[in-house]
Amino acid sequence: MTAADNLKLINARIEKTARKWNIDPRKIEIVAVSKQQPGERVLEALEAGQRIFGENRVSEAIARWDGASGFRKKYPDIELHMIGPLQTNKVDDAVRLFDVLHTLDREKLALAVKQAMDKQGKSLSVLIQVNTGDEQQKAGIAPENLGTLLDYCRNIGLPVDGLMCLPPVDEPPGLHFAFLNELAQKYNLPKLSMGMSGDFEKAIPFSPAYLRLGSVIFGAREY
Ligand SMILES: *Cc1c(COP(=O)(O)O)cnc(C)c1O
Repeated sequence: MTAADNLKLINARIEKTARKWNIDPRKIEIVAVSKQQPGERVLEALEAGQRIFGENRVSEAIARWDGASGFRKKYPDIELHMIGPLQTNKVDDAVRLFDVLHTLDREKLALAVKQAMDKQGKSLSVLIQVNTGDEQQKAGIAPENLGTLLDYCRNIGLPVDGLMCLPPVDEPPGLHFAFLNELAQKYNLPKLSMGMSGDFEKAIPFSPAYLRLGSVIFGAREY
């Protein structure tokens, strides 16, 4: 199975599940998570028309997309999404490379992103990562602190478009998706980033803007 074959099957699954829940499947976009995947598999997806890709490390993403592969030159309409934790010292590079940031989770990072965007004259779409499972080792803001972070972003002039979550591996993902959806409605944030290879069909009833899909498209990652 090529990445192109997999994308076709996944799109059919998304469409079928979306219809079942009366959701418009055209509003759901696949972020093809290309981290740690071989270049030839990524090329299969590009050739099949996939244009939105997700990466979790800034330096690896720069090497892949702006490096020798020439992917960005050959496919100038690609849209790159940062889905991993971001350190403030990498923000300038991240703002230069990426179009969407899924993982804003603290004030210091918000300020650095806003300053880099102003400096570069470029604006990213920003989502806040919420630690819905209150897991100590996991990135994301605690749900009870979300309102404060949103106020801070508003005060510094950084628009926030939505919320992202990564449910705990040992809990039913649907509960976390429902919770993230509730938070998004409470704060009037239109875009949800949720659903991965193993659980994306459970995210679809909430009409997510982005499903982040890696292994189901490209196969197991190379470490
Ligand atoms: C790696 C990763 C994914 C993709 O995971 P799969 O299970 O391969 O679909 C999605 N989201 C985040 C934040 C990731 O780090």
